[in-house]
Amino acid sequence: MQITKNGLATMVAPGDWFAGDVYIDVVSRSATPARVLGGVIRFTPGSRTAWHSHPNGQNVFVTEGVGLIQREGGPVEEVRPGDRVSIEPGENHWHGATSACFHTQIAYQVADEAGIDTIWGRHVTEEEYSAGVSGS
Ligand code: MN
Repeated sequence: MQITKNGLATMVAPGDWFAGDVYIDVVSRSATPARVLGGVIRFTPGSRTAWHSHPNGQNVFVTEGVGLIQREGGPVEEVRPGDRVSIEPGENHWHGATSACFHTQIAYQVADEAGIDTIWGRHVTEEEYSAGVSGS
């Protein structure tokens, strides 16, 4: 057992991979062979990830606010507290807040053998984002 006291500063999500202000707190970063990475992701209104995929998929649990998530080729879908999203390995997608609400989610993914847990692509366009904004 290892107890990690809270000394980690909240990370500001990098602008190369996120649009708008997004904050990340690490929940867990396990050593091999588990390779599980968990984080609390706080999206400010209008913020979102770029398009990306996870080599071993991702599980998301929504804890606050109203979020948006879209898999490539599918509709932009709204998620609310208590909703769970299971993202398949390699499935291209983005997630974020609506333009009107903060949105918090707990996200878990397992890195591959090279230690990569996310493969980043291009930013979500305003047209793509606004296709799903309900304003609620
Ligand atoms: Mn993801």
